[in-house]
Amino acid sequence: MQFRSLAIIEPILKAIEEEGYHTPTPIQAEAIPLILDGNDLLGCAQTGTGKTAAFAIPVLQLLDSEKSNEKKRKIRSLIVTPTRELAIQIGESFKAYGRHTGLTSTVIFGGVNQNPQTASLQKGIDILIATPGRLLDLMNQGHLHLRNIELFVLDEADRMLDMGFIHDIRKILSELPKKKQSLFFSATMPPEITRLAASILHNPVEVSV
Ligand code: AMP
Repeated sequence: MQFRSLAIIEPILKAIEEEGYHTPTPIQAEAIPLILDGNDLLGCAQTGTGKTAAFAIPVLQLLDSEKSNEKKRKIRSLIVTPTRELAIQIGESFKAYGRHTGLTSTVIFGGVNQNPQTASLQKGIDILIATPGRLLDLMNQGHLHLRNIELFVLDEADRMLDMGFIHDIRKILSELPKKKQSLFFSATMPPEITRLAASILHNPVEVSV
Protein backbone atom coordinates (compact mmCIF):
# COMPACT_ATOMS: atom_id res chain seq x y z
CA MET A 1 0.00 0.00 0.00
CA GLN A 2 1.29 3.44 -0.97
CA PHE A 3 0.06 6.91 -0.02
CA ARG A 4 -0.32 7.56 -3.74
CA SER A 5 -3.02 4.90 -4.02
CA LEU A 6 -5.14 6.84 -1.48
CA ALA A 7 -5.67 9.61 -4.08
CA ILE A 8 -3.69 12.17 -2.11
CA ILE A 9 -2.77 15.27 -4.09
CA GLU A 10 0.79 15.91 -5.23
CA PRO A 11 1.76 18.76 -2.84
CA ILE A 12 0.76 16.65 0.16
CA LEU A 13 2.37 13.47 -1.22
CA LYS A 14 5.59 15.44 -1.58
CA ALA A 15 5.43 16.58 2.06
CA ILE A 16 4.67 13.02 3.25
CA GLU A 17 7.71 11.82 1.36
CA GLU A 18 9.83 14.54 2.94
CA GLU A 19 8.63 13.34 6.36
CA GLY A 20 10.12 9.97 5.43
CA TYR A 21 6.85 8.03 5.53
CA HIS A 22 6.64 5.18 3.04
CA THR A 23 3.43 3.34 3.85
CA PRO A 24 0.22 4.50 5.50
CA THR A 25 -0.54 3.05 8.93
CA PRO A 26 -3.77 0.97 9.16
CA ILE A 27 -5.87 3.90 10.42
CA GLN A 28 -4.50 6.14 7.66
CA ALA A 29 -5.23 3.57 4.96
CA GLU A 30 -8.79 3.18 6.20
CA ALA A 31 -9.71 6.68 7.26
CA ILE A 32 -8.12 8.90 4.58
CA PRO A 33 -10.31 7.72 1.64
CA LEU A 34 -13.46 7.80 3.81
CA ILE A 35 -12.77 11.37 4.94
CA LEU A 36 -11.89 12.49 1.39
CA ASP A 37 -15.28 11.10 0.32
CA GLY A 38 -16.97 13.50 2.72
CA ASN A 39 -18.01 11.07 5.45
CA ASP A 40 -18.32 11.86 9.13
CA LEU A 41 -15.99 9.51 10.96
CA LEU A 42 -15.90 7.81 14.33
CA GLY A 43 -12.33 6.67 14.89
CA CYS A 44 -11.34 4.42 17.74
CA ALA A 45 -7.57 4.81 17.94
CA GLN A 46 -4.82 5.48 20.45
CA THR A 47 -1.97 7.95 20.12
CA GLY A 48 0.91 6.28 18.29
CA THR A 49 -1.24 4.74 15.56
CA GLY A 50 -0.68 7.62 13.16
CA LYS A 51 -4.13 9.09 13.79
CA THR A 52 -2.95 12.70 13.55
CA ALA A 53 -1.91 12.24 9.92
CA ALA A 54 -5.10 10.20 9.36
CA PHE A 55 -7.13 13.38 9.87
CA ALA A 56 -4.59 16.12 9.04
CA ILE A 57 -3.85 14.85 5.51
CA PRO A 58 -7.48 14.70 4.31
CA VAL A 59 -8.41 17.96 6.09
CA LEU A 60 -5.59 19.73 4.22
CA GLN A 61 -6.62 18.13 0.95
CA LEU A 62 -10.32 19.00 1.32
CA LEU A 63 -9.52 22.62 2.19
CA ASP A 64 -6.97 22.88 -0.62
CA SER A 65 -9.46 21.66 -3.22
CA GLU A 66 -11.79 24.57 -2.52
CA LYS A 67 -9.43 27.46 -2.07
CA SER A 68 -11.00 30.63 -0.84
CA ASN A 69 -10.83 33.66 -3.14
CA GLU A 70 -11.20 36.04 -0.30
CA LYS A 71 -8.29 38.22 0.73
CA LYS A 72 -8.52 37.45 4.42
CA ARG A 73 -8.49 33.77 5.28
CA LYS A 74 -11.33 32.40 7.34
CA ILE A 75 -11.00 29.58 9.85
CA ARG A 76 -12.48 26.67 7.89
CA SER A 77 -11.25 23.80 10.02
CA LEU A 78 -11.16 23.47 13.80
CA ILE A 79 -9.30 20.74 15.68
CA VAL A 80 -10.04 20.54 19.41
CA THR A 81 -7.70 18.49 21.58
CA PRO A 82 -7.39 18.22 25.39
CA THR A 83 -3.79 19.22 26.14
CA ARG A 84 -1.28 21.82 25.05
CA GLU A 85 1.26 19.09 24.21
CA LEU A 86 -1.19 17.44 21.82
CA ALA A 87 -2.17 20.81 20.35
CA ILE A 88 1.48 21.68 19.63
CA GLN A 89 2.11 18.24 18.13
CA ILE A 90 -0.98 18.46 15.90
CA GLY A 91 0.03 21.97 14.86
CA GLU A 92 3.45 20.71 13.82
CA SER A 93 1.83 17.93 11.78
CA PHE A 94 -0.40 20.38 9.89
CA LYS A 95 2.61 22.60 9.18
CA ALA A 96 4.63 19.60 7.95
CA TYR A 97 2.01 17.91 5.74
CA GLY A 98 0.66 21.23 4.52
CA ARG A 99 3.97 22.93 3.72
CA HIS A 100 3.41 22.82 -0.05
CA THR A 101 -0.31 23.67 0.00
CA GLY A 102 -0.25 27.34 0.97
CA LEU A 103 -2.80 26.64 3.74
CA THR A 104 -2.06 28.27 7.07
CA SER A 105 -2.69 27.11 10.62
CA THR A 106 -2.17 28.24 14.17
CA VAL A 107 -2.29 26.66 17.62
CA ILE A 108 -3.92 28.18 20.70
CA PHE A 109 -3.75 26.80 24.26
CA GLY A 110 -3.96 28.08 27.81
CA GLY A 111 -1.27 28.85 30.37
CA VAL A 112 0.61 31.32 28.20
CA ASN A 113 0.17 34.96 27.20
CA GLN A 114 -2.64 35.19 24.67
CA ASN A 115 -1.22 38.11 22.67
CA PRO A 116 0.94 36.15 20.20
CA GLN A 117 -2.06 33.85 19.63
CA THR A 118 -4.51 36.67 18.96
CA ALA A 119 -1.94 38.35 16.67
CA SER A 120 -1.70 35.24 14.52
CA LEU A 121 -5.51 34.87 14.46
CA GLN A 122 -5.72 38.47 13.35
CA LYS A 123 -3.69 37.70 10.23
CA GLY A 124 -6.28 35.17 9.12
CA ILE A 125 -5.71 31.40 9.06
CA ASP A 126 -7.38 28.39 7.45
CA ILE A 127 -6.93 25.85 10.25
CA LEU A 128 -7.14 26.34 14.02
CA ILE A 129 -5.86 23.79 16.53
CA ALA A 130 -7.06 24.56 20.06
CA THR A 131 -7.56 23.38 23.60
CA PRO A 132 -11.15 24.01 24.79
CA GLY A 133 -10.62 26.63 27.52
CA ARG A 134 -8.44 29.04 25.54
CA LEU A 135 -10.67 28.61 22.49
CA LEU A 136 -13.74 29.71 24.46
CA ASP A 137 -11.78 32.55 26.12
CA LEU A 138 -10.64 34.02 22.82
CA MET A 139 -14.08 33.48 21.29
CA ASN A 140 -15.78 35.26 24.19
CA GLN A 141 -13.36 38.17 23.79
CA GLY A 142 -14.29 38.41 20.12
CA HIS A 143 -10.90 37.35 18.73
CA LEU A 144 -12.40 34.54 16.65
CA HIS A 145 -15.68 32.99 15.58
CA LEU A 146 -16.54 29.54 14.26
CA ARG A 147 -19.21 30.42 11.68
CA ASN A 148 -17.16 29.25 8.67
CA ILE A 149 -16.07 25.86 9.96
CA GLU A 150 -16.40 23.20 7.25
CA LEU A 151 -14.38 20.48 8.97
CA PHE A 152 -14.46 19.84 12.70
CA VAL A 153 -12.17 17.36 14.48
CA LEU A 154 -12.60 16.30 18.09
CA ASP A 155 -9.42 14.53 19.19
CA GLU A 156 -9.02 12.27 22.25
CA ALA A 157 -12.66 12.65 23.24
CA ASP A 158 -12.37 10.27 26.20
CA ARG A 159 -9.55 12.33 27.70
CA MET A 160 -11.64 15.48 27.19
CA LEU A 161 -14.32 13.89 29.30
CA ASP A 162 -11.84 12.73 31.99
CA MET A 163 -10.42 16.26 32.19
CA GLY A 164 -13.86 17.76 32.73
CA PHE A 165 -14.17 19.48 29.36
CA ILE A 166 -17.62 18.18 28.45
CA HIS A 167 -19.38 21.48 29.16
CA ASP A 168 -16.78 23.40 27.12
CA ILE A 169 -17.15 20.94 24.25
CA ARG A 170 -20.92 21.36 24.19
CA LYS A 171 -20.51 25.15 24.16
CA ILE A 172 -18.03 24.92 21.26
CA LEU A 173 -20.40 22.60 19.36
CA SER A 174 -23.22 25.10 19.74
CA GLU A 175 -21.09 27.70 17.92
CA LEU A 176 -20.40 25.52 14.88
CA PRO A 177 -22.48 25.65 11.69
CA LYS A 178 -25.00 22.82 11.26
CA LYS A 179 -23.61 21.85 7.89
CA LYS A 180 -20.06 20.55 8.28
CA GLN A 181 -18.03 17.36 8.18
CA SER A 182 -17.06 16.05 11.63
CA LEU A 183 -14.36 13.62 12.69
CA PHE A 184 -14.40 12.17 16.19
CA PHE A 185 -11.47 10.27 17.72
CA SER A 186 -11.32 8.43 21.01
CA ALA A 187 -9.11 5.67 22.39
CA THR A 188 -12.03 4.15 24.29
CA MET A 189 -15.77 4.23 23.69
CA PRO A 190 -17.61 4.28 27.05
CA PRO A 191 -21.38 5.05 26.87
CA GLU A 192 -20.94 8.78 27.50
CA ILE A 193 -18.53 9.03 24.57
CA THR A 194 -20.88 7.05 22.32
CA ARG A 195 -23.67 9.49 23.24
CA LEU A 196 -21.47 12.52 22.59
CA ALA A 197 -20.40 11.06 19.23
CA ALA A 198 -24.01 10.41 18.27
CA SER A 199 -24.89 14.02 19.03
CA ILE A 200 -22.10 15.31 16.75
CA LEU A 201 -21.86 12.86 13.85
CA HIS A 202 -24.25 12.24 10.93
CA ASN A 203 -24.26 8.70 9.53
CA PRO A 204 -20.65 8.19 10.59
CA VAL A 205 -18.41 5.51 9.23
CA GLU A 206 -16.51 3.72 11.97
CA VAL A 207 -12.83 2.92 11.92
CA SER A 208 -11.21 0.96 14.71
CA VAL A 209 -7.55 0.07 15.00
P1 AMP B 1 0.19 9.82 16.18
O1 AMP B 1 -0.51 8.52 16.46
O2 AMP B 1 -0.57 10.68 15.25
O3 AMP B 1 0.60 10.53 17.44
O4 AMP B 1 1.55 9.48 15.38
C1 AMP B 1 2.57 8.69 15.96
C2 AMP B 1 3.94 8.88 15.27
O5 AMP B 1 3.96 8.16 14.03
C3 AMP B 1 4.29 10.29 14.91
O6 AMP B 1 5.60 10.53 15.38
C4 AMP B 1 4.25 10.37 13.41
O7 AMP B 1 5.22 11.25 12.90
C5 AMP B 1 4.53 8.93 12.98
N1 AMP B 1 3.82 8.53 11.73
C6 AMP B 1 2.56 8.84 11.38
N2 AMP B 1 2.22 8.27 10.21
C7 AMP B 1 3.31 7.56 9.80
C8 AMP B 1 3.59 6.72 8.66
N3 AMP B 1 2.68 6.51 7.71
N4 AMP B 1 4.81 6.16 8.58
C9 AMP B 1 5.72 6.37 9.54
N5 AMP B 1 5.54 7.14 10.64
C10 AMP B 1 4.34 7.71 10.78
